Amino acid sequence: MILREIPRGFTTRFAPAPTGHLHLGHIVNAVWVWGLARAYDGRVILRLEDHDRGRCRPEYEQSILDDLEWLGLDGDIAPIATFRAGSTPFRQHDNAARYARALAELETRGLAYPCTCSRSDIDRAWAEAWSREQPGIPLLEGVEPRYTGTCRHRGIAPDATPARRIVMDADDPVVFDDLRDGRQVQDPQLQCGDLLARDRLGNFTYQFCVTVDDLDQGVDLVIRGEDLLDSTGRQILLSRLLGRERAPEFLHHRLVRHPDGRKLSKSAGDTGVRELRAFGATPAAVLGRAAQLGGLPHDGAPIAATELHRLFR
Ligand code: GLU
Repeated sequence: MILREIPRGFTTRFAPAPTGHLHLGHIVNAVWVWGLARAYDGRVILRLEDHDRGRCRPEYEQSILDDLEWLGLDGDIAPIATFRAGSTPFRQHDNAARYARALAELETRGLAYPCTCSRSDIDRAWAEAWSREQPGIPLLEGVEPRYTGTCRHRGIAPDATPARRIVMDADDPVVFDDLRDGRQVQDPQLQCGDLLARDRLGNFTYQFCVTVDDLDQGVDLVIRGEDLLDSTGRQILLSRLLGRERAPEFLHHRLVRHPDGRKLSKSAGDTGVRELRAFGATPAAVLGRAAQLGGLPHDGAPIAATELHRLFR
């Protein structure tokens, strides 16, 4: 495994969404996050990404905090006790006023606009754009649908809907050097079009919350799974619009997958940390297994939270 130069003394984050219990995929990420932080004098922020009000539940938050405590993993910033004590800006739902301010400021600068498109409006416009741009080629499965800008110039009244999109124009593609995958060139306008910042129900989106939080919380190294690689260009572009001068560094690590390529997920019945605990696994056994599954040079033997830095020597 070749890692490019990791900056010393970085600030990173572990940011689960309380939409389920922790499973081994989360722990792979945790091993990378805490292991690198301990090896390079970094600090870990614990952040709960509960922006999706329809899917998040208080019992999942409890369970995530309990499992992290059991594993011996705590935030250096916003430790577990912070969440147990009540409201905190490190819990995204408690931070909505800040997102609203950031969005209002972009709107004042003409960089955000109301959008009344439904999912089917977006899909229809995208299918039309595709057949114009790729005549004769059927819509490819797995290609991300792009928002084609339908509402950008429609002058929709601000009180017609809470939904807002961000103007994702840039003169050049976004270029960044992933610390594991190397140089990446991404063009958000071609990949996703104008980004949804707040949806029709008034919920702020993952992309918006995470970019505001990484800016406000001084995150300068993002360590996460490779499924989020495609989101990085748009988050960098959005961070520039929000006034961030220097984007964070990014490291996208391997994900644990089923033999057929599917990601692990709790909703698909994959084994959670809860179950491993109930079967009598020790914290070190869970961390050791995750280190091996996550592509680190490790044979799967138990490894304590306090020893994770050894994986990055
Ligand atoms: N909340 C996201 C997740 O649970 C992590 C997002 C990120 O690291 O940017 O997958």
